[in-house]
Parts: sequence; structure tokens; C-alpha cells
Amino acid sequence: MSNDFPARGRLFESVMRAMEQMRSDDVRWADGKVFSLVFHDHAASRMAQAAYNLFFSENALNPTAFPSLRHMETDVIAQVAHLLGSSGSVVGNMTSGGTESILMAVKTARDWARATRRIRNPTIILPATAHPAFDKAAHYFDVKLVHVPVGADFRADLKATRKAINRDTIMLVGSAPSYPHGVIDPIADLADLAQRHDLLCHVDACVGGMMLPFVRHGGRTVPPFDFSVNGVTSLSVDLHKYGYAAKGASLILYRDGELRRHQLFVATNWAGGIYASPTMTGTRAGGAIAAAWAVLQHLGMDGYSAIAREVMDATDRIKHGINALDDVHVLGDPAMSVLAIASDTLDMYEIGDEMTMRGWHLDRQQLPPSLHLTINHAHVAIVEQFLHDLAESVDMARRNHRRSNVLLHKGIRAIASILPSRIVRPLTRSLAGRMGGEVGAQSRSAAMYGMMGALPNKGDLDDVVLDLVEQFTLPQHGKNIEHRTESIGFGDEGSGNHQ
Ligand SMILES: *Cc1c(COP(=O)(O)O)cnc(C)c1O
Repeated sequence: MSNDFPARGRLFESVMRAMEQMRSDDVRWADGKVFSLVFHDHAASRMAQAAYNLFFSENALNPTAFPSLRHMETDVIAQVAHLLGSSGSVVGNMTSGGTESILMAVKTARDWARATRRIRNPTIILPATAHPAFDKAAHYFDVKLVHVPVGADFRADLKATRKAINRDTIMLVGSAPSYPHGVIDPIADLADLAQRHDLLCHVDACVGGMMLPFVRHGGRTVPPFDFSVNGVTSLSVDLHKYGYAAKGASLILYRDGELRRHQLFVATNWAGGIYASPTMTGTRAGGAIAAAWAVLQHLGMDGYSAIAREVMDATDRIKHGINALDDVHVLGDPAMSVLAIASDTLDMYEIGDEMTMRGWHLDRQQLPPSLHLTINHAHVAIVEQFLHDLAESVDMARRNHRRSNVLLHKGIRAIASILPSRIVRPLTRSLAGRMGGEVGAQSRSAAMYGMMGALPNKGDLDDVVLDLVEQFTLPQHGKNIEHRTESIGFGDEGSGNHQ
């Protein structure tokens, strides 16, 4: 049984075969039908894998042991800071991902406020569309968040932000762009507001930081969002998204070292020696640092710009194709290649289910219900097929709509969480149990979202989802992992996880 610790080791080939078999159930990202979980460029991948292997064993925990890693990390920080408007004073650290970068920004802001002003309940103001990593940071670090609704264009509402500022406020946040709708918050205005109130201002450029500069370089208009904007004090940018680096690579950048100082940690009384560490993690994968460095050098400004041009052309075609269809449209005015498809008349989750049946993996969003696209270099070749399948799916939803699905409840628009399609079946079962209902073989996310909308309160929904999170790491009883027929996946950006 696979739940017991393996008594005897197995041959290399046997282990490899087992993994190949397991991954046959995984979403097939290589054919371009998966969005948000995988950012792929062929040349970058090849470079990243070679670099990762070369530095597979190295550990960046101690920068004096591996000058090579220190050199590469320093290069990556300086080069990306330069890309993002630094005139030389910007400092930063590599982290394991956008979440860790944001955790650091929030922790730094809290400790800055503790050190420089007497604030009892440090509060951060951010648009409702900001990434849940900020909620996670607030949860971990005991900082209060005030979410401000966004305007009709899905961008941060400046007036509402100004109104929310009080004596406990320590930082304002804007996204460039926001994950759900791909629109850039009014960064210059937010930064100006922050400056006038003597507050910090963090820009979450996790998804856009390694794309927007190249979009601009290609001649398109991109509003200023980085350190070129006075008042922006910190910025998060992921290398493992549009930087096409190996997963486990992001940057947290600060306008100056004085602010970054509040991020650092040291323990000087440990029996194991003096232990200092700049970020959340202890041991840090040398491979992720090497891969990020290698891809940056391999692609360069010209390589990234060429990729961005192709991706933006594909995005234009997709946007026009969506808007040419009846009943669906793109939300807001996306600044780059991240966007959401919504409908005023049809059930978007129904359309999502139809797309799933056609092999696509799209995140479901809410408020309003929409499907999410992060178009990257892997998608340039599948634009026509995507639009063809979307047109079919919209047609199907239109027909189902006329038959009016009784499982869909009105409260659907108020649901408080978003989940990837692969967890739909277990969740539907779990929900059915809670509600004492019978769902039979319901496995469509449209039905599930309808049921979630019918739950009496949000606390119930939190519990149901957390039950599920627990189940994901429990042993799969009675099943041999290699021969299981059903796999449960979790963690799409913007879904139960997120992204
Ligand atoms: C992806 C993303 C994050 C979180 O990054 P992870 O690497 O998934 O931890 C934060 N903010 C935005 C805008 C993102 O797109």
C-alpha cells in the first residue's frame, strides 16, 4: 500500500514510470489549453532547466558559501529594478513567489510603522481586487486590511481610498495590473495620496512587472506604475510568471535600504551560531535563482519584447473575438494579456463547464461571475481554436439558459469564494452533505456555484472549503496512488487558492 513508508527502494525506471502514469491525469498545459498555472516559453524553459540543474544542490541560505548565487541574485535584483524605474537606490530580495514578496512588504510596513510612529492597529488600504496574498499577510502578521470597492472600470476608487485613510493607516496598495481583470489601478494618484499622508505605497506588479515594460517597449501605451512614480515605496514582481523563469522566483523591491531594513531578521543567541535571514524562508533553492538569472540573460530586452509583441497580438485577437460574440464581453479595459470574460445574460460558469468539456482549463471568478485568461507565449498558437470553442460553448449555454437550470440560485453572485474546476466534484458532495440535500452525480461547476450561493452564510462556506483543504493532504485510503482513477487538484490562481 502506498500509504506505508516504502520498505524497500525501487529502481529509478520504476519510479519514473510511476510518475509518468500519475501525471496522465494532470491538465495538459503543453498544448496551450491551461491558463494561469503555467507560463511557458520554449527557449526560456530550456535555459531555465539547464541552469536549475547546474545549481540543483546549491543553497542560497548562506551567501558567503556560494558567491555564484549571491552574484546572480544581485544581478537579477539590479537588472529588474533598472527595468522598473530605479535610478539606483532600489534594493530588494529574491523570494519564492509573489505571496512571499507580498508577505514581506506587509511585514516590513508593519515594522516600519512600529519603529517610526505610534500606531495601535496598523491598517492597510487596498482595492477589493488586490490579491488574497495581502489577506494572508494580514492574517499572519496581525495587520488590519480595509478593502475599498473598485469603480465601474474595476480600478481602485481614489475617492473611497482617500476617505478610508485614518490615523491607523500605514500603507496604500495598488495592482499593476490586478489579477482578476488585468486593469492597472491609478498608481500615480495612489502614490501621490500616500505621499501627502506620509504613508507607504506598495505596487503589486507580480503579474505585470515582467510584461508591462516590454509591452511599452513595443510601442503600446502603459501608464507609469513603477519606481518612476514618486511615492511608490515598494513593489512585488514575479519572475516565474511573465519572466518565464522556473517556479519559486519573485522579487520584493524597496525604494531605499532604510525601508528594507525593517524586513530583515537576525537571531544572535542561537547555539548553532548567528543566524540572519532577509526573507521568510531558510534554505533557498539555488536552482530557482540560477534559472531566473539565466533566463534574464538569455532573453534580454529584445527577447522579452519579441515575446510580448506576439502575446499582445494574440491578446488583441482574443479580445476582438470575444467581443464579436453575442452575450459575452471582456470586463474593463485590460492593460496587457490578463483579462476576464463575462456575460450580462448567460451563466458564465455554464460556459466554463462547456469549455472544460472541450479540454480547456479556465479559472472561475466571481463578483461578477467571469472566466479568467492569462495569455502567455504558450497560447499564441491556439487563438483560433480557443475562439471557436468559446463560440460553441456560448451557444450551448444559450440553449441551456432557455431551458432554465433550476439548480442555479439567485444568490450565486454573492458567493464568497472561487474554486478551480477540478475540485468541483468533492466539493459538491461535501456541500450536499452540509445542506442535507441530494445532488447525485452533479459535477458541473455551474451547479456547484449555485449551491454555494444558497448556503445561509459565509462562515459555512469558509468551513466547507477548509474541510476540503484538509482533505487534500490526507492519505487516499484504499487506493494505490499509481492506480487511482480520480485525482483531486487544487490551487489555481484566483481559485480556491487564488491566484
Ligand atoms: C500571482 C499573483 C500573486 C501571488 O503570486 P504567487 O507567486 O502565486 O505566490 C500576487 N499578486 C498578483 C497580482 C498575482 O498575479
